Amino acid sequence: MNIEELARANVRALTPYQSARRLGGNGDVWLNANEFPTAVAFQLTQQTLNRYPECQPKAVIENYAAYAGVKPEQVLVSRGADEGIELVIRAFCEPGQDAVLYCPPTYGMYSVSAETIGVECRTVQAREDWQLDLPAIAANLDGVKAVFVCSPNNPTGQLINREDLRALLEMTRGKAIVVADEAYIEFCPQATLAGWLGDYPHLVVLRTLSKAFALAGLRCGFTLASAEVIDLLLKVIAPYPLSTPVADIAAQALSPAGIAAMRERVALIVENRARLMQDLRQLPCVEQVFTSETNYVLARITASSAVFKSLWDQGIILRDQNKQPSLSGCLRITVGTREECQRVLDALREQPGLSATETQ
Ligand SMILES: *Cc1c(COP(=O)(O)O)cnc(C)c1O
Repeated sequence: MNIEELARANVRALTPYQSARRLGGNGDVWLNANEFPTAVAFQLTQQTLNRYPECQPKAVIENYAAYAGVKPEQVLVSRGADEGIELVIRAFCEPGQDAVLYCPPTYGMYSVSAETIGVECRTVQAREDWQLDLPAIAANLDGVKAVFVCSPNNPTGQLINREDLRALLEMTRGKAIVVADEAYIEFCPQATLAGWLGDYPHLVVLRTLSKAFALAGLRCGFTLASAEVIDLLLKVIAPYPLSTPVADIAAQALSPAGIAAMRERVALIVENRARLMQDLRQLPCVEQVFTSETNYVLARITASSAVFKSLWDQGIILRDQNKQPSLSGCLRITVGTREECQRVLDALREQPGLSATETQ
């Protein structure tokens, strides 16, 4: 018997998440993972690596609760927001029986986690404007225990309508958990649903230090929910999900000075984004640039696969979204430094457009 046959059937069938790092590339301009373009320096202050860490480090939880405007018992910290996705599915969905629901085009980890655990993935295509198709969701809720909604949505960049999120929470009350993935919420803080946690005990909000906090390499994320939901997630989380150095740095990043520095980074990215979008719209190969509330921009490009490859060969690594439903011809560009944005613009300017003959 070979080893492959010993594995669970759903694991054999699984395609692992095509993370930016797994996709490889030999770039010097990395704009494919929505990271912050430069590193923030930290000093380790905890020298107690002989001891196991706290499961939920008090300083991290208290700082995040204060930052998010919730009570400490409504906060769970984990190995990135990705672990939060997995914990919700493991705590609420019976393998082989229950389903999760999400609305493509959206973030890829909902399906990867559900498939790994053996939980059905039910999809309800987003409408043409990438908003929720509420009647179709309502018609497909049978057996669904968790609905994932990403707002602002990755990779499209726009917010999901607030009234629609409220309608979704009303229709799922007592039936399913609604997970609002707010990985990019620092770029549009007024849009958070954290203020609704008191009204909806089945609402879960996911957050991360990987994007605006510039700490993707730290692997630290947060789940905000009612204390009841948090207690259930604490039953299934690993005993020591965060190493001592991670907790040490996370607490510093969430200090008042850390949060002020994050807000400055956000302002810088928002400024670079406006400039990038404006300049992209002038290029012959760029057909459409979509609005963004995030640190990335989605654009429809003529001959996008060839353009993607050409930039890749020049060391400029973007994210090809061409295979996602309704995103044919779309590339996602992380907003980097001014220089990095300029490299992208210069490379795209060399690409032929639909009306290349008219524009020159
Ligand atoms: C980046 C991202 C995450 C994952 O965040 P980590 O904390 O790095 O695991 C979750 N959801 C969305 C939509 C993301 O873009």
